[in-house]
Amino acid sequence: MLIDGERVAAASGRTFDVMNPATGEVMAKVPDAQAADVDRAVKVARRAFDEGWRDVTAQERGRILLRLAEKARAETKTLAELETLNSGKPLAESEFDIGDVATCFEYYGGLATKLHGEVLNVPDNALSMAIREPIGVAAQIIPWNYPLLMAAWKLAPAICAGCTMVIKPAEQTPLTLLKFARWFEECGLPKGVVNVISGFGESAGAPLVAHKDVDKVAFTGSVEVGKTIMRAAAEGLKKVSLELGGKSPNIFFADADFESAVDGALFGVFINQGEVCSAGSRVLVQRPIYKKMLDAMVEKARGIKLGPGLDPASKMGPVVSKAQMERVMRYQEIGRKEAKLAVGGGRPKDPELQRGYFVEPTIFYDVDNSATIAREEIFGPVMSVIPFDDEKDALRIANDTQYGLAAAVWSRDIFKCLRMVKRLQAGIVWVNHMQPTYVEAPWGGYKMSGIGRELGPWGAEEYLQVKQVHINLNEQPIGWY
Ligand code: NDP
Repeated sequence: MLIDGERVAAASGRTFDVMNPATGEVMAKVPDAQAADVDRAVKVARRAFDEGWRDVTAQERGRILLRLAEKARAETKTLAELETLNSGKPLAESEFDIGDVATCFEYYGGLATKLHGEVLNVPDNALSMAIREPIGVAAQIIPWNYPLLMAAWKLAPAICAGCTMVIKPAEQTPLTLLKFARWFEECGLPKGVVNVISGFGESAGAPLVAHKDVDKVAFTGSVEVGKTIMRAAAEGLKKVSLELGGKSPNIFFADADFESAVDGALFGVFINQGEVCSAGSRVLVQRPIYKKMLDAMVEKARGIKLGPGLDPASKMGPVVSKAQMERVMRYQEIGRKEAKLAVGGGRPKDPELQRGYFVEPTIFYDVDNSATIAREEIFGPVMSVIPFDDEKDALRIANDTQYGLAAAVWSRDIFKCLRMVKRLQAGIVWVNHMQPTYVEAPWGGYKMSGIGRELGPWGAEEYLQVKQVHINLNEQPIGWY
């Protein structure tokens, strides 16, 4: 782990195994942080904030972020291979992710000098200012689906804003962040500003969130853990941001470009093995093209090559863990009872793939929106295809969910698309595409999909607080008494 700039073991000396999901073999052992390690890391972050980091200029913070970006780009091959080995995803996707990691650090490197306050036009002979200040020590808890990228989405804005932090990667995928942390010092990051602890949710994540010296909690993961975190943060009234996934509708009108629609539906839910918070797992298709589109999706899905992520031929890797594979298989079983299976529905037969945590890309059709597979986040390559009649029907089905992270709508009629955009209850809406994400644009959910926004200036805002300053320009006494 990295605490106060030193590479350290857990105080207890305990470690846990990290698996390669393509083979089911142990690929590393990492420290198993407990409350004592968390306490040490938070105290270091507190001290770094109080004694030094807060005086580092925005220009210097920007330069550090740009050096981190440069390092990520220079080490793309190393980081991408490690990401693929640890998370399972195809190498091309890991390379793309590491490119996004670098872009994220670059963006916030540029933003550091552009965060400013406002001067307000108040009555009387006075000047009022609203100035933005870093909130202090941030606790950051990361999921396993985009391990280094989700870390970058939290580290970069927090460094940009001038916070210090303790970050915990998911227990399944700590390796790329631990590797990247080795280069913090050479990129100019002072000791103690970013501390990385590896450990489990309950033994390391929970004490981190609850620590009295933590001012802000940023979390990406499941709704259930999100609620637990919010409850724990309430005790210290800590600022919280939560990104909690979804059950996003990907809506295809009959007048959509057909080839793009078929590709867009598959990409929306099968990219990254479906382990995507914004996965378009509910595919809504207008009745005139329902059968044709289903047939075309099934044919293409049969051609998706499963295999270890390092094999350039693989289009889909294993899911991240045995537990996640079993979870997806449970939903495959539920789906068989609730709907009609078009393709997939189990594990691949190839004995080589039986060693790892592979599941087949799966399409269920004639799914009712009340079905479990249409309501619960599966976080695997499982698509539910749902027919609809018209705009009103599509909106009713799309918004009938507890989630509100993302939605996509496909049609050649821009007026129809924009009517849908206005009525869809989601934090992100794509038109004629699904999944592209830009660091400049806000990311976050409506409803149970979360609180707060990541990326862009909104991401930095999560790590800032506003101070009002009032300056009396009168030189006489107030004259009240
Ligand atoms: P979790 O929500 O349990 O894990 C996310 C992160 O939270 C991990 O770092 C985890 O640590 C940590 N954590 C767990 N419990 C606590 C706690 N009490 N206090 C503080 N931190 C905690 O997700 P799972 O890995 O269990 O995945 C289950 C489901 O969650 C998935 O199938 C998917 O539906 C959803 N999910 C959604 C994601 C998204 O991007 N929105 C990302 C990941 C999962 P540890 O890994 O050690 O348990």
